[in-house]
Amino acid sequence: MSEHTFDLVVLGGGSGGYAAALRASELGMTVGLIEKSKVGGTCLHVGCIPTKALLHSAEVADVTRESAKYGITSTFEGVDIAAVTAYRQEVVASKYKGLQGLLKARGVTTIEGAGTLVSPTTVQVGDDTVTGKNVILATGSYSRSLPGLDIGGRVITSEQALELDFVPKKVIVLGGGVIGVEFASVWRSWGTDVQIIEALPHLVPNEDQAISKQFERAFRKRGISYNLGTRFQSVTQNDDGVVVTLEDGKTFEAELMLVAVGRGPATANLGFEEVGVTVDRGFVLTNERLATNIPGVYAVGDIVPGLQLAHRGFQHGIFVAEEIAGLNPVVIDDLNIPKVTYSDPEVASVGLSEAKAAEKYGAENVSSYDYNLAGNGKSHILGTAGIIKVIRVNEGPVIGVHMIGARVGELIGEAQLAVNWEAYPEDIAPLLHAHPTQSEALGEAFLALAGKPLHA
Ligand code: FAD
Repeated sequence: MSEHTFDLVVLGGGSGGYAAALRASELGMTVGLIEKSKVGGTCLHVGCIPTKALLHSAEVADVTRESAKYGITSTFEGVDIAAVTAYRQEVVASKYKGLQGLLKARGVTTIEGAGTLVSPTTVQVGDDTVTGKNVILATGSYSRSLPGLDIGGRVITSEQALELDFVPKKVIVLGGGVIGVEFASVWRSWGTDVQIIEALPHLVPNEDQAISKQFERAFRKRGISYNLGTRFQSVTQNDDGVVVTLEDGKTFEAELMLVAVGRGPATANLGFEEVGVTVDRGFVLTNERLATNIPGVYAVGDIVPGLQLAHRGFQHGIFVAEEIAGLNPVVIDDLNIPKVTYSDPEVASVGLSEAKAAEKYGAENVSSYDYNLAGNGKSHILGTAGIIKVIRVNEGPVIGVHMIGARVGELIGEAQLAVNWEAYPEDIAPLLHAHPTQSEALGEAFLALAGKPLHA
């Protein structure tokens, strides 16, 4: 049994926790980072990074199939899943090693083990007591299921989907949000029959409707089936697969079912409520400065209600470290956080959708422009279709940017600057975009909204 004392104790070493630890250490604090599994958390080990490796492998499969279109002869002969796994694991292992090295180099003390909050300043890890002047809760999230739907056997979560050592012939994906469509996209590229079931009326339902509709068309064109607007009722498993029944009586059969209905906050039995931290349906409630109701205790990342994204976690972590150091950082607004759905096609957005913009400002006070990627040289070269939609307040700033097409996630940085800085299209339209790039499409939309379209 031993006692450790730090300026700052961080419980959970995922995106939010490790970012807080790195920044706090940079600001001169002594930091104890408690992690029960591996630093890097969901994003590095079972989320963002390994799934993007699979998506890249999926893209290579598609490029191989379509190479004749570009004058290259090749034949797609299948997926060597062992090699895909080795590639995915190598990417993760390399980033994991890098992160461990970084934490060490910055002087962060990593404490291995599962911690429980036992007082506003103390976390118990086995027999060890870890005390800090401030504590950050950063325990992340887990794959949720639906009431009465048990995970197991042929009913899997994203974590098991990553680890499959075969390419399934037919899969049902329950949930048409970011994680569901990402796996659907990968499997389809690898030759799987995919059926998505989504209770809401659209795939990627949190996006602007114009984008959701384009996305549905693109998925249909790729041969991905989906059933929208009906709830899942039950699933039965047998030796060959699963049979899923929907509330309207429809049934679907497949080899596996992936449950991708969202992620819940991982806060149960960690002492938070016992110490008096206010928790609502598992989420830790904070003020806009990420402070809980208990002085000195903060929360970051997926356990804080709102968008569950790694870069939000990073930003939360940096924010709280700076807050504790008295640097008075600028409050983070979820509306200004860029979101990317990684699939083929990709979706990226920041700010208000057209419907939300009309709700907030009145439909007559906002305008939008859809630039069709068909007019963009680079998009044509890459063989991608899609749109870039920019929404502005009339005679006012850009308040939303929504994109669909290959690699549009790479364009969201500029869009985020525009929305965050409340730039007027007239101010940013003169910015140059190198030709030929897909970024020109965003410039074209700004130009059009500023009343001086070039190729539109
Ligand atoms: P986590 O990363 O979950 O970290 C929490 C850490 O706390 C974990 O390491 C856990 O082991 C540890 N922990 C928990 N309890 C204890 C305890 N009692 N004691 C000690 N340690 C504890 N986001 C993106 O922005 N881009 C993407 O492309 C993306 N893709 C994703 C794909 C998938 C399949 C999934 C599942 C998620 C994806 N996400 C993506 C979401 C992203 O992974 C999360 O938003 C992010 O990891 C949240 O960071 P966090 O620090 O809040 O929690």
